[in-house]
Amino acid sequence: MRTILVVGGGYAGFYTAWKLEKKLRRDEARVVVVDPRPYMTYQPFLPEVLAGSVEARHAAVSLRRHLRRTTLVPGSVTAVDHAHRSVTVQPPDGPRFALAYDVIVLTAGAVTRKLAVPGVADEAIGMKHVEEAVAIRDRLLTAFDRAAALPAGPLRRRLLTATFVGGGFSGVEGFGELLSLAQSLVRRYPELDPAELDFHLVEARDRILPEVTDKPGAWVVRSLERRGGRVHLNAQMVSAKGGHVVLSTGEEFDSDLIVWTVGNAANPGVRNHTDLPVDERGLIVVRADLRIGTDAEPVPDAWAAGDDAAVPDLAAATPGATTVPNAQHAVRQGKLLARNIIAELRGGRVRPYEHHSLGTIATLGLGRGIFQYKRIVIKGFPAWLMHRGYHVLAVPSWERKVRVLAVWLTAALFGRDIVSLVSVQHPRQAFVTGGQTAEKSPEAVTTGPAALS
Ligand SMILES: Cc1cc2nc3c(=O)[nH]c(=O)nc-3n(C[C@H](O)[C@H](O)[C@H](O)COP(=O)(O)OP(=O)(O)OC[C@H]3O[C@@H](n4cnc5c(N)ncnc54)[C@H](O)[C@@H]3O)c2cc1C
Repeated sequence: MRTILVVGGGYAGFYTAWKLEKKLRRDEARVVVVDPRPYMTYQPFLPEVLAGSVEARHAAVSLRRHLRRTTLVPGSVTAVDHAHRSVTVQPPDGPRFALAYDVIVLTAGAVTRKLAVPGVADEAIGMKHVEEAVAIRDRLLTAFDRAAALPAGPLRRRLLTATFVGGGFSGVEGFGELLSLAQSLVRRYPELDPAELDFHLVEARDRILPEVTDKPGAWVVRSLERRGGRVHLNAQMVSAKGGHVVLSTGEEFDSDLIVWTVGNAANPGVRNHTDLPVDERGLIVVRADLRIGTDAEPVPDAWAAGDDAAVPDLAAATPGATTVPNAQHAVRQGKLLARNIIAELRGGRVRPYEHHSLGTIATLGLGRGIFQYKRIVIKGFPAWLMHRGYHVLAVPSWERKVRVLAVWLTAALFGRDIVSLVSVQHPRQAFVTGGQTAEKSPEAVTTGPAALS
C-alpha cells in the first residue's frame, strides 16, 4: 500500500487529508500528516480571538478529532530528500527520525516576515497563531488593569498605547478588532478616560488593505480614524527598542503593545532543506495541476499547495501570476490536490487549479466590516454580518460552526468576557509564593515579550 505523506496540517494540508480519507478505498493508500501542532488553525478567526468574540479553542480544529483514518505524526519536517522518498522529522521529544513515503504533499504554509528593525525581535509579537492572539488580548486587558491603578503619566500612557505594523489584511482586521475591544473595555474603567487610548497602525505604502481598490481602502482609513485610531501611511517603523517606537516620519511614542503584521515569508524549513524546486521567493514551484515542477520538468510523486507554493493563477489576467496566499485558495487547492492524487493513483486525468476570487471580506471590529467583489462594495454593519456568516459556514465541521455560533449568541446577550488570564502562564506562582505578591518598583514593570509570558 502506498504512503501519502502530508507535511503540515493547516488549511491546505487538512483539506487534502480530509478529502483523501473520504475518497480513498481502505486498501488504496495510507495517509500520514506531520505537523508540530495537533490542530489546524482557522486563521481568519484570530482577529476575533484577539477581541474575545471567538473562543481561542474554537479557532483550533483538532486533527485527531476530524482525521480519523489518518496517521498523525507530531513534529516538524526539517528536511525533504525526495530523491530517496524520505523526510526527516524533529519530534517534540527525542532525536530526529526519517520517515519514508511514496507520495509527498507539501503544505507547510508560510511564516511571519521579519525585517531587521532594532527592538522588534525583543518587543513585538506576530498574529498568525492562536497563542499570539490570546497573548495580545491578555496583554491589553492586563494593561488596562495596570493603567487604572496608576496616576496619569508616561507609564499609564504607554500602557494604553498599541501599535500594529503592517496595514495588510491581518493587520487591519487585528487593529480594528483590538480598537473595538479597547473602546468597549474603557467604559468599564471609570479611572480611565477614552481619550487616553492611543492606537497606531503603521503602513509603509500610501494605502492599506491592498486586497480592496483605492476608494474602499481610503474609506477603511477614514472609518478607523473616526473611531480614534491613528493610521500612519507612507511610514515605516525604524526602531522599537525598549518599546519606544520611532517612525520614519519622525514621530516617536512609547507603546506597550507592538503587533507585527507585515506579511508572509517563505517557510524556512521548506525553502532551505529540500531537493524539490523552489523559486526566488523560496516558494515551491508548482504546475497548474498542483504537481511540483514545471510543465517541462514535472517531479513525480510530489505535490504542493497553499502559502508555501507558487501556484499559477489561471484566473488572473496577467501572465505568469501566481495565486495570492489566502484561505480561499488554500482550501480549494487542498481539495483539488486530493482529487488529483486519487485520479493519478487510479490512472485517471488530473485537473488544473482555477479559481475566480469570491471577493474580499474583512472585519474592522464589532459591527463593522468591508466587502468588495469587483465593483460591488458593501461597508459597515451589513459587511460585518456577511463576514460572520461567511466564516461560520467556512470553518470546518458542524461541531466547530455550532460552538462558534453559540459564543456569538451568548456574547450578543451578555457582552464579551473581559478578564485577562495572563496568569495561566505562571500556574505555579500562587502555590509557590503562598499568595504573597512581591512589591514591584516602576522600573521593574516589564515591557516587551517578557511581559507577554
Ligand atoms: C490573522 C489572519 C487572518 C486571515 N484571514 C483570512 C481571511 O479572512 N480570508 C482568507 O482567505 N485568508 C485569510 N488569512 C490567510 C489564510 O489563513 C492563509 O492563507 C492559509 O492559512 C494558508 O493555508 P496553508 O495551509 O498554506 O498554511 P497554514 O494554514 O498556515 O498551515 C501550515 C501548517 O503547516 C505546519 N508546518 C509548518 N512548518 C512545518 C514543518 N516544517 N513540518 C510540518 N508542519 C509544518 C504548521 O504548523 C501549520 O499547521 C488570514 C491569515 C491570518 C494570519
